[in-house]
Amino acid sequence: MNPSTMLRTATVLVSCTTASLAAAQDMKVGVGRQVITPEKPMWLAGYASRIAPSEGKVHDLWAKALAFEDETGARAVIVTTDLLTMPAVLAHAVAAQVQERWNIPRERLMLTASHTHCSPVIQDGLVNMYGLDETQAALVGEYSEGLRVLIAASIEQALQNLEPCLLTWGVGEANFAGNRRKYTLDGVTNDFNPIGVVDHDVPVLLAKRSDGSPKALLFGYACHNTTLSFQLFCGDYAGFAQLAVEKAFPGCTAMFAAGCGGDQNPYPRRELALAEQHGKSLAAAVESAIQADMAVVKGPLRATYKEIPLALSEPPTRDMLEEQLKSADKYVARRAQALIATLDSSGKLDTSYPYPVQVWQFSDTLQLTALGGEVVVDYSLRLKYELGREKQFVIAYANDVPAYIPSLRVLREGGYEGAGAMVYYGLYGPWAPAVEEDIISVVHELSGR
Ligand SMILES: [Zn+2]
Repeated sequence: MNPSTMLRTATVLVSCTTASLAAAQDMKVGVGRQVITPEKPMWLAGYASRIAPSEGKVHDLWAKALAFEDETGARAVIVTTDLLTMPAVLAHAVAAQVQERWNIPRERLMLTASHTHCSPVIQDGLVNMYGLDETQAALVGEYSEGLRVLIAASIEQALQNLEPCLLTWGVGEANFAGNRRKYTLDGVTNDFNPIGVVDHDVPVLLAKRSDGSPKALLFGYACHNTTLSFQLFCGDYAGFAQLAVEKAFPGCTAMFAAGCGGDQNPYPRRELALAEQHGKSLAAAVESAIQADMAVVKGPLRATYKEIPLALSEPPTRDMLEEQLKSADKYVARRAQALIATLDSSGKLDTSYPYPVQVWQFSDTLQLTALGGEVVVDYSLRLKYELGREKQFVIAYANDVPAYIPSLRVLREGGYEGAGAMVYYGLYGPWAPAVEEDIISVVHELSGR
């Protein structure tokens, strides 16, 4: 190559880089954050076995908001929370407020939960599990009301500091998630399955300010946030991962969105040091993703949201429910009581549930696919297969958590995620066999494919 060609090439490269940075920086990004740790001892969410309220905290729980404004001026906000669930009643209340105060429509608000089992019980999350006394139930109401205000405050803050940023994304890898559906002669039990499917991807979305400093890092992982089961508030491995990322990049807000980890657990587990270890593994995966070549993410940001009537199996008759009232299993009896009350008041049981599916497309560079519920790993694997792993950041526990969401395979296999857990959510029975196709086909529809 002669010197003049070299010079021309260099000039072209510089102008390309400048052009792509300028184009990419048409996207503005803002972040907001609020501590949501309860001030009083409260019942901890997620395990039926607990018998007492919380006794303090390991670290704070957070609601964090990441706001985008594309070159057309359209805005969108994703909120991550260190909570077990994101119940529809909360999501709808926040969405109504966001629409009214900032004119941001429902499809441009994505609300997610980390699924930490060391967060407080909130209204309408796992309604049938706890059987709280009046004092605890009142605290849940009070906390849930305050939570709505704090989430709105985090969104307001994010919208106030929108600034031009370079958005990039990539995928790291962490190996501590294991399939928890063990195959035995007695069926599927809840234990480590070394031959079960996993998804070890760690999708990472990075927003850099114009001076090159990281402003926000949104990352995900398909794994139950259940290293711990004790009486302290804690973000579990996801909380430790956010702390580790924020320590590595001062001034950056780290956010965790749970992936399709409905049938995945962190291993090993049940010690605080292990939650911290998994958090550090996840943070290391985030760091390695951003040190590798990341793809530039561009606007415009197209957003779609749809609630589909996800069908349940055949409903029980009144006689069957009256039989269940006598069950020695208090959860079965409690659910039967609630379903009979519904029959008495409305004459029938709902045979479907309004299930939320949301798709955000950043031009053709990245797709955030957000599914409600405790979605099993088959969904993220299938969506990456069908829609391209290089474009897919799949999020679960988003916009509502009405139950576990099994694939057809898991539904047929049964076990906790296939059927057993429905009782804790107050739903009468397993999903209909169309569950997987109904959800996947609406993702395709919203993706424009
Ligand atoms: Zn769960």
